Amino acid sequence: MSADQSITDKVHDVVIIGSGPAGLTAALYAARGTLEPIVIEGTVDGGPTGGQLTLTTDVENFPGFPDGIMGPKLIMDMRAQAERFGTRYITEDVVEAHIASNPKRLTTASGAEILTRSLIIATGAKPRRLDVPGEEELWGSGVSACATCDGFFFKDKHVVVIGGGDSAMEEADFLTKFASKVTVVHRRGELRASKIMQERAFKNDKIEFVWNATVAEVQGEGGSVSNLVLRDTVSGHTTDLPAEGLFLAIGHIPNTWLFSNVLRTDDEGYLLVDEPSTRTDVPGVFACGDVTDHTYRQAVTAAGTGCKAALDAERWLAEHTAAAPDDPRG
Ligand code: NAP
Repeated sequence: MSADQSITDKVHDVVIIGSGPAGLTAALYAARGTLEPIVIEGTVDGGPTGGQLTLTTDVENFPGFPDGIMGPKLIMDMRAQAERFGTRYITEDVVEAHIASNPKRLTTASGAEILTRSLIIATGAKPRRLDVPGEEELWGSGVSACATCDGFFFKDKHVVVIGGGDSAMEEADFLTKFASKVTVVHRRGELRASKIMQERAFKNDKIEFVWNATVAEVQGEGGSVSNLVLRDTVSGHTTDLPAEGLFLAIGHIPNTWLFSNVLRTDDEGYLLVDEPSTRTDVPGVFACGDVTDHTYRQAVTAAGTGCKAALDAERWLAEHTAAAPDDPRG
């Protein structure tokens, strides 16, 4: 839903930007604290609402689900749970944020202006790209960062997954349901992925590995991928690897562009908070989930920090209950 008058006509206690596990857990806690939160569930560069979990398949490590749960289902359930206690949703991107003002002022893509006393930033991270020739031109025509979304189109084809982390292993394993062969290309001689994910990939007959290599160029024919030029990271030599698909699983970049000129970030661009709290430098602004975390990046850790952000916002509001002085709408 877009922002109607009942949302734009008042100053909210708490607005949450982001609808992954961090944002939705913050919403659940804020709603149960009777703060009537608004969640702006943007798409961030055309990505999904609901964050990265909506792009995964089985989630086996979220506590409480002994048989695992599908990522999109987990998100839908979290969303419904927060809604049950009064959370309202706006499905739009925020395009401008004045977070140092009082109240804080957010503008959405449709031009709606949303005012809030406190703000929780849970904007997550987006897939990193390789930045090599051919990648941009063939994006969506054989190059993808989402096996769950696009794997179906590679039935009986040879596809390549680049990366050596859990995502790469998960994507490779998932792609073997469709592809005739999956080659994992990794820039080092050992994987970063957890042991259980490594073992699953090593046991899968359809998965092969190319070590110490990275993709130097993506080549296409007739608008689709036909060949990858690989560069050996040790010798520097290049070789051809004919393939019809390339799936990137090389990590993420935090979604901070709205705030990076106001809020402090670390060297990799993740928002810095005053740990163990979720407070940022700006009073009344809190941050949680993957946008603050380059270490753990798990659904359950994101949910945990979402809970902390809601509690921090609730306490901050209790200490700052007077109406905002320059609040035009009361
Ligand atoms: P990650 O752990 O940061 O792994 C990224 C991989 O990409 C690394 O192997 C890295 O190589 C490689 N890489 C980075 N930049 C590259 C480049 N420009 N060219 C070639 N290779 C490049 O990211 P992730 O796999 O997305 O995982 C993120 C977090 O989510 C982790 O904590 C992970 O455990 C978690 N996760 C869990 C599950 C699960 O349990 N089901 C599934 C997915 C993700 P190096 O190893 O050389 O750095």
